[in-house]
Amino acid sequence: MEISFKGKRILVTGAGQGIGRGIAIELWRAGANIVALSRTRSHLESLQSEYPSIEIVSVDIGDWEQTRKVIESLGQFDALVNNAAVACCEPFLQSTSANFDRTFDVNVKAVLNISQVVARNMVENKIHGAIVNISSQASKAALQDHAIYSASKAALDALTRSMALELGPHGIRVNSVNPTVIMTEMAKVGWSDPTKAKDMLSKIPLRRFGEVSEVVNAVVFLLSEKSSMINGVELPIDGGFLAT
Ligand code: NDP
Repeated sequence: MEISFKGKRILVTGAGQGIGRGIAIELWRAGANIVALSRTRSHLESLQSEYPSIEIVSVDIGDWEQTRKVIESLGQFDALVNNAAVACCEPFLQSTSANFDRTFDVNVKAVLNISQVVARNMVENKIHGAIVNISSQASKAALQDHAIYSASKAALDALTRSMALELGPHGIRVNSVNPTVIMTEMAKVGWSDPTKAKDMLSKIPLRRFGEVSEVVNAVVFLLSEKSSMINGVELPIDGGFLAT
């Protein structure tokens, strides 16, 4: 399937490493002008050293005011990928207020903040854009020590549906992808323990974790015109985990 984003300007958050970096590179390969946003400057600089035409922006998206200022300064976009997130795993009985606030600030509130600015601009300029939120299988299934993270991703799914409903009439589509474990820096924290990994693998019918490229391919499809009637879906990329 030939997909081109030539002439399109796309914002990818959390593009410094992991899945976001993979998304930014693939969209760049497909001809898009990419703005890669993340927190750690050195990660972004390493991306830009490999792909000099990728624009980079460093901001902590947990900071509402600063983020709003930065996004408003970036101008117009044709598409947005809300990928940046944090995952601090702790048992429910030990879950803290600080972890809850930080997780919801980054995983949910920042998506509202960034998407609002980008979508307002799309509406004003009559851009029929597309937004993809990176959610998780954890939004739909209970995983050990993931209470706060799961709750944040379930909130993100609800936000995706509301955005799809309210932005749809403006020709803007909003969808999410909900991956299983993908062995990035984030996943290493929760799934490096062989016992935990074995247990999770036994619940995935395909008996393996996902690859970054498998998430990237779904995001590219959902951003493209090939999915022009798809709006408000939460697409599992989980080898069948949620089907069982
Ligand atoms: P990584 O931790 O590898 O990368 C996350 C990226 O988000 C980094 O570039 C990081 O910046 C950025 N980021 C985190 N917090 C902030 C912040 N406050 N402000 C700006 N940028 C921030 O994670 P993954 O690539 O694994 O995860 C990407 C997405 O996929 C997330 O939404 C995650 O929840 C989701 N997901 C991941 C799964 C997995 O198993 N890996 C499974 C299901 C969903 P910096 O470069 O500074 O670290």
